[in-house]
Amino acid sequence: MNIKCVVIIQCDIVQRRCSGFACTNAFYNKEGAFKDYDAAVRYISFTCGGCSGKGIAAKLEHLSKKLNKKTDITKDEVVVHLSSCMVHDNYHSNRCPHADYIKSIIIKKGYKNVVEGSYISANAARKRKEGIYDCYE
Ligand code: SF4
Repeated sequence: MNIKCVVIIQCDIVQRRCSGFACTNAFYNKEGAFKDYDAAVRYISFTCGGCSGKGIAAKLEHLSKKLNKKTDITKDEVVVHLSSCMVHDNYHSNRCPHADYIKSIIIKKGYKNVVEGSYISANAARKRKEGIYDCYE
């Protein structure tokens, strides 16, 4: 698969108190869920738009238009990551109750490469292993 663009979708509620630094840092350091991307892969991050994630459809439409007009990147060359704060039980909250719905919208919009997870916190991973946090893997 020739991936040219990574999209990270953050929880809109979490984003009110999280800068997204850990996800961005993990992307540039090629850690966690980003370990297989090469240096030329571009990166964009935005939120789900708020509960219940319905706003993601319009954001993806906007992205599709821009990719089409301004780049040669196709939807098949994009990977959409649902951030760890959305899909795992973690410091911020438990898994988003709308995660599967959001995923279905992304796929319906033509982005078939969807990955659950972004930055992997060692502390949260340990807590999931120990049963302190719920585990969805
Ligand atoms: S839909 Fe899920 S990811 Fe989006 S704001 Fe609500 S809880 Fe967060």
